[in-house]
Amino acid sequence: MSNKIYLVSEERLADKIHTFARFGDDFCGGITRYALSKEDELARDEFVRRMQNIGCEIYSDDLANLYAVKKGRGKSKKKIVMASHLDSVKNGGNYDGVLGVICALEVLETLHAQNIPHRHDLVAMVWTNEEGSLYPPAMMSSAIISYPYLPLKFRESYKEEDLLKAKSILDNQTTFIEELKKFKYYGQRKNRINKEDYLAMFELHIEQGPILEANKKEIGVVDKVIGMCNYRIKIKGESDHAGTTPMSFRKDALFAASKVLIYLHQKLDELDKDLVYTTGEIVCHPNVHTVIPDYVEFSLDARHQDDCVIDQVKEIINSLPKMFEKCEVSTSLAWHRDTVYFNKTLINYVLEATKKLNYPYQYINSGAGHDAQMISYMLPTTMIFVPSKNGHSHCDEEFTSIKQCYQGANVLLNALLKCDEDFE
Ligand SMILES: [Zn+2]
Repeated sequence: MSNKIYLVSEERLADKIHTFARFGDDFCGGITRYALSKEDELARDEFVRRMQNIGCEIYSDDLANLYAVKKGRGKSKKKIVMASHLDSVKNGGNYDGVLGVICALEVLETLHAQNIPHRHDLVAMVWTNEEGSLYPPAMMSSAIISYPYLPLKFRESYKEEDLLKAKSILDNQTTFIEELKKFKYYGQRKNRINKEDYLAMFELHIEQGPILEANKKEIGVVDKVIGMCNYRIKIKGESDHAGTTPMSFRKDALFAASKVLIYLHQKLDELDKDLVYTTGEIVCHPNVHTVIPDYVEFSLDARHQDDCVIDQVKEIINSLPKMFEKCEVSTSLAWHRDTVYFNKTLINYVLEATKKLNYPYQYINSGAGHDAQMISYMLPTTMIFVPSKNGHSHCDEEFTSIKQCYQGANVLLNALLKCDEDFE
């Protein structure tokens, strides 16, 4: 079987991409499809409809993760899963997450249409609330499910009882668990993906960055999710009248924050060239144009594949001077992750499939977090990336051509079949 090349249907795949783009259409080229919303329900209805058409068994678990199982012909009771998410950020694109689900559907539809034999039960799966855009944090249900396997230092941030109480960012009142229990696809705990019944997980995803396109590659063979740390930097000054306080009397927290930011940029730029870091969030109090700010807090997110470089970032932040412009500076680590390495055997299946199909490829890191990163602590897991036009993602402009989606689905199909053949 291993030398044979299998191909999905480009038309059927395109039809699915267009169909799913309707659920949450923002009429600007993208979608808003929050987890547990009506749009999420409609997208899942389409998933179920398609999978029932090819005779799959359908069920969901108590986090509303949704599974479609195509029975295998072998003796093994263990399953191999292809999974991603259907939820999006506000005004997100038509490819992030949903493409992984669509390609999983396409792979099972291809196996059915071409009557391709497989030994194991093969599963297309939808993760609930990967984006965490309405109910933070991101990767909520994959974190809950893989919790017992997570490194001890991560667990504090991912306790099930805390995550389920997450409040909607829209009203700061409605909780995730309330909405979950009302959701059409709320199911049973016993159905959760687990280490005993599952052998491996594949996740196809858009790159969400510009590297594949810039290098003229069609497939990213993902081997790791790079490590990161996320800090809160807090600056305490004093509020006073903007007109009556001479400059020399001021303790302006916002001006001090700008100095801290420049200081950090200078220090961090001296570290490795592959380090990326971002301040994307800032709080300024009282945020009134006639008042000198007395409090500013901003985020600092830094990412690098080498955990030693992340340690150096931490050292720079921890040794930050305590005073800038007469204002007190303090820092706290909000969260962090070590670099997560995917399973070597599965990475090789993706590589072999890509070579067999003769698609230009390269190894690539994931700079973004994905459900696959959580599940890799529990099961052998890997990812496949397809290019993102101009590197855009989480916006209307997000785009991957049908041909590129088709190539990604073919890699997924052939890697999955190799895994099915090899794994016991
Ligand atoms: Zn995603």
